[in-house]
Amino acid sequence: MVKENCGVVGVFSLSNHNVLPIVIDSLRALQHRGQESWGIAVPKKNPLKKFGLVSEAASEFQIIIKKYRSHAADDGTVYAARDTKGFRPLVLGYHKETETYIVASESCAFSAVAAQLIRDVDPGEVLKFNGNGVSSEHFLNEKPHAHCAFEYTYFAHPSSIMEKVNVYAARKRIGQFLAKRFPIKGGDVVIPVPDSARPAALGYAQEMSIPFEEGLLKDRYSKKGSFRSFIEPFQKNRLEITSGILPIRDVIAGKNVVVVDDSIVRGTSSTAITRILKLAGARTVSMIITYPPVRYPCYAGIDFPSQAELLAYQEAKDEKSNLVIGSKVSKTIGADHIIYNDTSTLARAIGIAEEELCFTCSTGDYSSLGIKPTFKSRSQMKGQE
Ligand code: SF4
Repeated sequence: MVKENCGVVGVFSLSNHNVLPIVIDSLRALQHRGQESWGIAVPKKNPLKKFGLVSEAASEFQIIIKKYRSHAADDGTVYAARDTKGFRPLVLGYHKETETYIVASESCAFSAVAAQLIRDVDPGEVLKFNGNGVSSEHFLNEKPHAHCAFEYTYFAHPSSIMEKVNVYAARKRIGQFLAKRFPIKGGDVVIPVPDSARPAALGYAQEMSIPFEEGLLKDRYSKKGSFRSFIEPFQKNRLEITSGILPIRDVIAGKNVVVVDDSIVRGTSSTAITRILKLAGARTVSMIITYPPVRYPCYAGIDFPSQAELLAYQEAKDEKSNLVIGSKVSKTIGADHIIYNDTSTLARAIGIAEEELCFTCSTGDYSSLGIKPTFKSRSQMKGQE
């Protein structure tokens, strides 16, 4: 079972450079993958463990860089392995200036330190870094793969390239494919829910020839303005983030608004956003959701809520039709329409064969994990009961 350490970096310098600046900047670039805590392990020292964002420790960076000085972050020899189905991404890069190999969850970490992406680490591949360079062994490559489709709609950074697919380009294509498959008639304006859905909204608007506008903006100066609501574990914090979204009345008032979002998980943000849009004078609110209905927890590394908390499960437990699920969920959320993507349209837009992608959180088919889970409450999932 994959643990919830979703953003990882392993670094080894062949020329004995202190890799700590690279580690810190790479971790900062992976911050969207988790916001609760972070840490660094180097040989012969107790690991550094911190709560909160990496940037919150900015005043200590110089001390950390000196105190944990090392040519490697993890151990004297660094090992990096990817799960055998390729659920989670892992990429290999190289920083020429310091002759440093880096493995990271996403290639956006390489862009942050001006390193080059070499390639994806294969599912079931283990890489070993030491003074002789990098060597590779494949322990098990289980086909078909099960690359997480949710990475492409929500989780990954748009600049990242995973399985040779740029996430931004994939998101824009998802919007275009949705417009072809599910055109909303009579829409006056297409707006994204910030931030992950922005490229998909642009693709949808361009394909439909409807104006694309920014109708909702995050208040970046509020304490949690740059946080992501779905990966916040506590309801109070999620509400705090959503209430930091401000409408632009001139864009919304009197319009039939098509709003594009990446997913509906608990429904907290979608309900608040619909309310914000209606209060700002929207005539109708139609939601286009780039990911299919989320009804099952993830056991492959994404910190999902328990099944009971998932809105599409609460509203439409065994319903097969996405149209019916959308109609039921729209009543709870207060939107006029909700259109969910489907797995085959999403796979075609991403550009990876459907059978090579994981959609378990939508389909409930856990065969790629080889388990039949018993669904637990959130506190049971966290080991608190
Ligand atoms: S269950 Fe969902 S979130 Fe988890 S790996 Fe599969 S697609 Fe990704």
